[in-house]
Amino acid sequence: MSAPGQGVLSAAAADVPRRNWAGNVRYAARAFHRPTSIDELRRLVAGSPRIRAVGTGHSFNRFGDTTGDLVTLAGLPPAIDVDAERGRVTVTGALRYGDVAHRLHTQGYALANLASLPHISVAGAVATATHGSGQTHGNLATSVAALELVTADGDLLRVDRDTDGDTFAGMVVGLGALGLVTRVTLDLVPAFEVRQYVRLDLPREALDEALGSAYSVSVFADWRTPRLREVWRKQRVEQPPPPADWLGTTAADQPRHPVLGMPAENATPQLGVPGPWHERLPHFKLGFTPSSGDELQSEYHLPRAAAAEALAALDDVAHLIAPVLQVCELRTVAADELWLSPNHRRDSFVVHFTWIDDPASVLPVVAAVEERLAPFAPRPHWGKVFVTDPAELAARYPRYADFAALLTRLDPTGTFRTDQLDHHFPR
Ligand SMILES: Cc1cc2nc3c(=O)[nH]c(=O)nc-3n(C[C@H](O)[C@H](O)[C@H](O)COP(=O)(O)OP(=O)(O)OC[C@H]3O[C@@H](n4cnc5c(N)ncnc54)[C@H](O)[C@@H]3O)c2cc1C
Repeated sequence: MSAPGQGVLSAAAADVPRRNWAGNVRYAARAFHRPTSIDELRRLVAGSPRIRAVGTGHSFNRFGDTTGDLVTLAGLPPAIDVDAERGRVTVTGALRYGDVAHRLHTQGYALANLASLPHISVAGAVATATHGSGQTHGNLATSVAALELVTADGDLLRVDRDTDGDTFAGMVVGLGALGLVTRVTLDLVPAFEVRQYVRLDLPREALDEALGSAYSVSVFADWRTPRLREVWRKQRVEQPPPPADWLGTTAADQPRHPVLGMPAENATPQLGVPGPWHERLPHFKLGFTPSSGDELQSEYHLPRAAAAEALAALDDVAHLIAPVLQVCELRTVAADELWLSPNHRRDSFVVHFTWIDDPASVLPVVAAVEERLAPFAPRPHWGKVFVTDPAELAARYPRYADFAALLTRLDPTGTFRTDQLDHHFPR
């Protein structure tokens, strides 16, 4: 047997990532695989006591880190099949949102929203309830209409929102623990155009109004001053541009990157230049490094009504946050019914931290942030760094026990279990 992280290479597995994008997790798998057909994948799962899928590796924690077999589904034949009649598209789960979006746009379609980066796989993003921003938009998992997955015994299971009701709501944000997702069906909307404006120096009192002012809005802060450094307002082209004195801000006169010092060239076009939805809703361009590339991230979903109070609570630890922070982003996400969605039955205000790449300095600050936010029952992003006690986290999700039962029903022998999953969902 090979040492952890130095796994055996199966055919064509050389390009399975050995560590996550951020480099803070070196995968402990004993073997790495890149099957090229569903049948090969099914045989692999059926014959493996422990297996896990990796998407594009943009998570920052160990939910997906197995000591068994790690498999990328990127070798499966890619497909993007539009069902115009039903307004849906079925895609191979390993495809990146950016690739799917480009194809959809050429056919006159769009997805309702996108995350800050188009580099992530559809299945990996959905598994962790990845989200964009916008008061009327759910996270990306809420656009899922059906899933096809290989379950622990190697069977192919298809679940559909229309026919599988509540169980479906339990399976979409599955943390990669219910099966390996081969195909995902997503809701479509007609293609649309967006203009992106960056405004500087927002007073805190205007935050709520700013967040609700356009299709998708992100606000960036540095915790060095109470004012909010930048507003990235992504608005449909039909909406008039913000007036010169909008909410006491000034207009940026040149393109920006959310992280100070990083090249604006990596960011999607701003200054109100109209463009397709998929080239404006993400902050970062496909083909360029997103964010800073040298970082850790944490993120907390809070009740939207608690936004001002939550920021005031964080003021007490601003002196701890600022020295280890690259940028803080504030967003909104609409409530949904998905069991493990951080937005489950809660319109959300989301506080995101891009930290420096130094776990020893960052983890105590993460703990301090969680302690300050605890009164607001924060739900951490499933793909990022958090230190929440499992029992406390369970209490923040009304359907936690139901998900634990679903895990046992679909995966009785723990094929898809990992140490971090066991920590949060003890058997
Ligand atoms: C620079 C950067 C910016 C980000 N911006 C945002 C943002 O705007 N909004 C946001 O919400 N998040 C954001 N994230 C977090 C990111 O979206 C999530 O971590 C997401 O899960 C990454 O998708 P992935 O394909 O890389 O998944 P991975 O990290 O590869 O996997 C995530 C989980 O999904 C499982 N998984 C992957 N593929 C499959 C599959 N086919 N079947 C079953 N399980 C699978 C894995 O086992 C693992 O548990 C950002 C991350 C980075 C690095």
